[in-house]
Amino acid sequence: YDLRNEDLKDLRELGQGNGGSVKKVEHTPTGMIMAKKIVLIDAKPSVRKQILRELHIMHDCHSKYIISFYGAFLSDPNICICMEYMDKGSLDGIYKKIGAIDIEVVGKVALAVLEGLTYLYDVHRIIHRDIKPSNILCNSQGHIKICDFGVSGELINSIADTFVGTSTYMSPERIQGAQYTVKSDVWSLGISLIELALGRFPFSESDPDDSDLSDFEGTLSPGTVGLPPAPPKKDSKKDRRKSKGHIVNEPAPRLTPEGRFPKNAEDFVDSCLLKDPDARKTPKDLLKHSWIDLARESTFDLEAWANTF
Ligand code: ATP
Ligand code: MG
Repeated sequence: YDLRNEDLKDLRELGQGNGGSVKKVEHTPTGMIMAKKIVLIDAKPSVRKQILRELHIMHDCHSKYIISFYGAFLSDPNICICMEYMDKGSLDGIYKKIGAIDIEVVGKVALAVLEGLTYLYDVHRIIHRDIKPSNILCNSQGHIKICDFGVSGELINSIADTFVGTSTYMSPERIQGAQYTVKSDVWSLGISLIELALGRFPFSESDPDDSDLSDFEGTLSPGTVGLPPAPPKKDSKKDRRKSKGHIVNEPAPRLTPEGRFPKNAEDFVDSCLLKDPDARKTPKDLLKHSWIDLARESTFDLEAWANTF
């Protein structure tokens, strides 16, 4: 597709995030339905063009566990990214609508995310960097796919700087300024799976242990992802540093209460949430876990499930 903004008709808004908003659109020349992500980028034209070039890699990402990419273009002052539309939306929206998600479905989600992460890393050396329920999408055919992965270093920089969220899926080592690795995504997956299985985010938004965050002064710059740091916006880093100390200092969350979920599900989540990244497995290794074998063999009908809401 040679996408141009004039050829895209807005149908409805799908949601808003930190970086911008997502709309369901129709590509009028072809009748194709797409999701258009509009990202407001406060950057020089040269940087914006660089982001577009970097996004081009997404044309080569083909996996049934990854959202298809249709193209990206500049539409001053935004960057628009057009992708496959998933008619059942993201898993955060789904559990907020139907409540805690059946552990068998959560197993299928784990399988899909691990397959997607393994594909991205093995084939393209891409680390996702933003695994969370809002970036795991579902459609009425019962397909589960991941989106919003970090293909563009420049885009990561531009958005990291405007981040103002509270809930965090960030691993302890990342909070302390270490390099991003595929294992950081595994931590984020573990947090996401608990959230889906319990029907709520596993950390309280105002954890008591937020006082000793001065330990992390200066370590949480965008430069820690191995990229040149963007000039900080006033107070933005300070906000990001807020409410993350507990993730480093407290024991990792677990699938609780004990006995409510299958033992191998508990064990899988525990291995995702090992605080020491050296002890934590990679997505590829975790594909061999017994709970994932079970998910692969399961005859649970995801299509029928997706059509219950
Ligand atoms: P954040 O900005 O913190 O990453 P987010 O992932 O919710 O949060 P966006 O990526 O802007 O923010 O997405 C906003 C919402 O749009 C998502 O929560 C999701 O429900 C919806 N959405 C995103 N992409 C698609 C898509 N391809 N098909 C259908 N819905 C989508
Ligand atoms: Mg998203």
